[in-house]
Amino acid sequence: MHKRELIAPCGMNCNVCSAYLACLNDVRSKGIRVPYCTGCRPRDKKCAFLKKRCALLIEGKVEYCHQCPNFPCRNLKHLDERYRKLYRMSMIDNLKCIRQNGIGRLLVREEEKWRCPECGEAVCCHNGICYNCSLEKIKSRKKLYRWEDE
Ligand SMILES: [Zn+2]
Repeated sequence: MHKRELIAPCGMNCNVCSAYLACLNDVRSKGIRVPYCTGCRPRDKKCAFLKKRCALLIEGKVEYCHQCPNFPCRNLKHLDERYRKLYRMSMIDNLKCIRQNGIGRLLVREEEKWRCPECGEAVCCHNGICYNCSLEKIKSRKKLYRWEDE
């Protein structure tokens, strides 16, 4: 089950982030050296994309960016564009889903979207690899943060 606290304020789903899945599956113990992260929200990470540029996020005045009067701001749009193009995720779409249907619905939708057909765990949004059952695929990738054929 995707964890609610792993939906970042910007709408990023950390449940499918490479650094989170690497940590969750302890891939370093299997000889794969990649960054580890427990998720933007659990870490209270100073988000490179938005937080350092946003007083509302720094001060914790909004739980999610869609609660901001400027939603979606220029920085979020830029991030969203990059993620739609490279990583098959739209932060803005995720936040609209939360706003319209609640976080529970988003979590169900995300779990279906990212489910590994082999083992049922989540595949990584940054490369489409399942770190639970297909970790060896990482070794053949030239770039860790790209899907195959891209
Ligand atoms: Zn799998």
